Amino acid sequence: MKPATAEIVNVMTVDVEDYFHVSAFDNVVSRAGWDTFESRVSRNTEQLLERFAEANVRSTFFVLGWVAERFPALVRRIAEQGHEVASHGFHHQLLYMLTPKQFRDDVRAAKAAIEDVSGHAVLGFRAPSYSVIESSMWAIDVLIEEGFVYDSSIFPIHHDRYGIPNSPRHAYMLKRPVGTLLEVPGSTIRLGGVNLPIAGGGYFRQLPYAWTKWGIGRVNRIEREPVVFYMHPWEIDPDQPRMRVGRATRMRHYRGLERTGARLARLLQDFRFDSVRSVLSLAPSSAA
Ligand SMILES: [Zn+2]
Repeated sequence: MKPATAEIVNVMTVDVEDYFHVSAFDNVVSRAGWDTFESRVSRNTEQLLERFAEANVRSTFFVLGWVAERFPALVRRIAEQGHEVASHGFHHQLLYMLTPKQFRDDVRAAKAAIEDVSGHAVLGFRAPSYSVIESSMWAIDVLIEEGFVYDSSIFPIHHDRYGIPNSPRHAYMLKRPVGTLLEVPGSTIRLGGVNLPIAGGGYFRQLPYAWTKWGIGRVNRIEREPVVFYMHPWEIDPDQPRMRVGRATRMRHYRGLERTGARLARLLQDFRFDSVRSVLSLAPSSAA
């Protein structure tokens, strides 16, 4: 029997970064040291491309400018396979640690680098670690001024490092004095007045798959809305070198790596997915 949610097409997204770019490792890995690590991002992203091809799924890939500069062939392949290439910034810096000027320089360099290699206009941005929070809302103005069509950086949850708990749970227009921007938030379910994340990251790796399946099904069935799923290439790489970090960070980042690839295959069978651009029918803005 065809599931009742079959007609809802959800959004698949991948933040294309290497295992040593993770924000929680910032105090053990300096930016100057990135080139000294063995890079695994190209190989891991290729594996994701294969899985998506097998399932006939298109995704949005938020690529770091740093990655686009070093692996242009990878970015071209992503675009050639019909996926959307968007921006994850250049140097994976948390927005609330930057000045507006520093952010503008970073996001402008990343957009130029990615457009240069992909040959397509970049429409969307996702901040490293969802770091658009109350104190960094100025970043939205910068994105509008830099010609972006949408942002996908505001998570409507309570979290130790990110989130604006009472912001809308589904795509909406963010109105700012300098203009408007479409916001495509990370997905949650609302239970007992609290928003709980259901679509990606550590929750997908570490909680039973049934939680993700139930949550996405519930949003599709009851709210009739797509979810925005997110993952990283390093999440399907159990052999990645381990960083010397504390126990809590180790648990958060390394638990469940060996089962995530198989889980993704199930997810791609259980639900329909496409890119942000396709699901929301977006085109480059005339101002860009
Ligand atoms: Zn990231």
